[in-house]
Amino acid sequence: MIEVKELTKKYGNHYAIKNLSFNIEKGIVYGFLGPNGAGKSTTMNIMTGYIAASSGTVLIDGHDIVKDAEEAKKCIGYLPEMPPLYQDMTVKEYLDFVVELKKVPKAQRKEQVSYVMEKTHITDMSRRLIKNLSKGYKQRVGLAQAMLGNPDIIILDEPTVGLDPKQIIEIRELIRELKKEHTIILSSHILSEVSEVCDNIMIIAKGRLVASGTSEEILKEFGGNSTIDLLVKADEKTVKDKLSKIKAVEDITIKKSEAGRTECILHIADTKDVSEELFELLCKEKMTIIRLNPMSKSLEDIFLEVTDEKYISKIIEDEEKAEQEKKAQKKTKKNLGQEVLEEVNEKSAEDISKEAAKEAEVTDDASNEIVETVETDKEVLDYKVSEEDEKKEEE
Ligand code: ADP
Ligand code: MG
Repeated sequence: MIEVKELTKKYGNHYAIKNLSFNIEKGIVYGFLGPNGAGKSTTMNIMTGYIAASSGTVLIDGHDIVKDAEEAKKCIGYLPEMPPLYQDMTVKEYLDFVVELKKVPKAQRKEQVSYVMEKTHITDMSRRLIKNLSKGYKQRVGLAQAMLGNPDIIILDEPTVGLDPKQIIEIRELIRELKKEHTIILSSHILSEVSEVCDNIMIIAKGRLVASGTSEEILKEFGGNSTIDLLVKADEKTVKDKLSKIKAVEDITIKKSEAGRTECILHIADTKDVSEELFELLCKEKMTIIRLNPMSKSLEDIFLEVTDEKYISKIIEDEEKAEQEKKAQKKTKKNLGQEVLEEVNEKSAEDISKEAAKEAEVTDDASNEIVETVETDKEVLDYKVSEEDEKKEEE
């Protein structure tokens, strides 16, 4: 449905987003998740044609959002962070205005406006001035205008920000309702919201896509090594000696060791389940278990980890390294090309001068020959002339 390729937006020297690439499939709810300033609104504004990208492309159902804007925009309904609501219009006046703006055929306009008001539960408010509505109702009007024109894709930028808990629940219910008929992309800086409403999560930080997939997929990819929190009756040395024999135990962090008890964290390789092996070993060694608590990372742990300054700095560092390598390679290629070119030039120059010399030699020979022939002819002629003269004299 949507293909985003290497999207970059630069403000001065600052990248608001850099090299974002992803695909949006039909009928799925996507969540852009990221802290403030991550680049969520920038991405959405580019995808909907509100602002231009510095580079990269967005195809909506095959239509380029820049080159084929009208067709592309028909497929999308957008609720921006600051919905452009006309405060002095009534709800109905505003929606009538938008439905006309979206070039919905005249015969369908009335029906569509009634339909979206009903879906967003604002029919009772249709005669109210927008400026007199609560924030929650204003947001519904924003949603209603996004739904006009019956677009396949609905994009919502932080749809619940600034709403009270009851309004948040209502908007979330509305989104679930919309999900039946539309592909939805929403943004939020709140993990629980995204994980509750969305099928697919894209974590964005500092303009980079740092993780994406279903919650399960992200947990699997970034969950990494699990740990076991263990408290046993044994001294530190015994714990270290015995437990390090378990292959999947990569590391042991001793938290506390006193009065014959040791509290530690076992770091387990990948997603191996070592509980059974561990239990059997502890029994065999007569190390009484007081506490054995397997722990794995939560989605929240992962979110905090991948949006952490250190994690992003590493990504940016790697990016810069890759760019420098690319530049260096380009330079080497260019130099190599220059050398080859120079060699070719040198050769041809040499060849040319050789050829010229050869040609000159040929011409020389030829002209020599001509001169010689002419001279011979002249001699013959002279001889003949003198012969004739002699004859004449004799006569
Ligand atoms: P989010 O919506 O995730 O909070 P934004 O997309 O609004 O993030 O912003 C991403 C980054 O781009 C931020 O660092 C922000 O300061 C910067 N930015 C956004 N718009 C502009 C602008 N018009 N001029 C300069 N910088 C901007
Ligand atoms: Mg934003």
